Amino acid sequence: MVNVKARAVDGPDKSFRAAEIKRRDLDSQDVLIEIKYAGICHSDIHTAHGDWGPVNYPLVPGHEIAGIVTEAGPNVTKYKVGDRVGVGCMVDSCGECENCRKGEEQYCLKGNVPTYAGVDKYGEPTQGGYSTHIVVTEDFVVKIPDNIELDAAAPLLCAGITTYSPLHHWNAGPGKKVAVVGMGGLGHMAVKIAHAMGAEVSVLSRTLNKKEDGLQFGAEGYYATSEPETFEKLAGTFDLIINTVSASIDINEYLSLLTLEGTLVNVGAPAEPLPVNVFSLIGHRRSFAGSMIGGIRETQEMLDFCAEHQIAPNIEIIDADQIDEAYERVLASDVKYRFVIDTSTI
Ligand code: NAP
Ligand code: ZN
Repeated sequence: MVNVKARAVDGPDKSFRAAEIKRRDLDSQDVLIEIKYAGICHSDIHTAHGDWGPVNYPLVPGHEIAGIVTEAGPNVTKYKVGDRVGVGCMVDSCGECENCRKGEEQYCLKGNVPTYAGVDKYGEPTQGGYSTHIVVTEDFVVKIPDNIELDAAAPLLCAGITTYSPLHHWNAGPGKKVAVVGMGGLGHMAVKIAHAMGAEVSVLSRTLNKKEDGLQFGAEGYYATSEPETFEKLAGTFDLIINTVSASIDINEYLSLLTLEGTLVNVGAPAEPLPVNVFSLIGHRRSFAGSMIGGIRETQEMLDFCAEHQIAPNIEIIDADQIDEAYERVLASDVKYRFVIDTSTI
């Protein structure tokens, strides 16, 4: 065990503080990663605030991790010291169930091991990326392509894969009209990725305040959901809608924007239910679906896709002392479009 520096929170209403946490000694297939940057995802905030249920504190969030391999266990074959690597929302899974064998480790039938707020196979609580180092089994590590800077790579490990996976699964591409609801961390990546896949993209944001940015990210349409005529004008328009909103919204209004057999995929994860009126679905054989991050193979595919299409998130780099302030700004939707912690300031 080694002690490493981290930033931890002790309860839903507490501020972040400097902490020391333990990282395990390297097992034969583990790598030690010196974390350089860690993104702040809205899920970190939901978890730290206990929105999704009780969590064990102290908690070190962070599942958008980019860094450098500094040590490798004796049986590691995929990575060597000096490699630029990333770690996302999970650090292990059973590896044997039907879903793991398909490369969908996020849907492991025994439950994947989340990067933080979980328990690893050694029975120890997992702690995330707001720290200087992490130990991860090589199968849950991905390679960051050379032409993606480490700070920009970090948000791809959650915001990138969480939007890439449903866009890919539901065939966003030429001839498809895709709408992205909410243009925050996930939303702005969804716009860039769907555009690069060749789809015609629109943004549904509460206001037109971020319209210029949305168009620059590749959207062709940009609409304010605070204006009721938006829903009349766009009724029956979209083949695919990706809802990234972190709060509960009237999902029936958005379902009415789908074409015949269109699908609305919820990736936003508010604690409150989203009540569905069945008539929003049955009239046009529509689907309401969900999607959670993506598997490891698909995460690597997403990174390579972003490298090929030169897609990177828009980020604001902060010091470790600014985490509380960044959380407040994310909650106020005052983020353009992802905060990334420079972990050298921890
Ligand atoms: P974020 O940066 O805060 O973006 C959320 C966006 O939702 C905001 O920018 C805002 O967009 C819109 N919004 C916020 N409050 C709203 C409200 N009350 N009514 C309507 N719109 C509202 O958050 P994020 O990091 O992208 O995460 C978004 C959600 O996805 C969170 O719930 C997070 O936990 C979840 N998530 C899920 C997965 C998964 O695997 N499924 C993975 C990562 C995150 P506008 O300003 O444009 O209206
Ligand atoms: Zn996340």
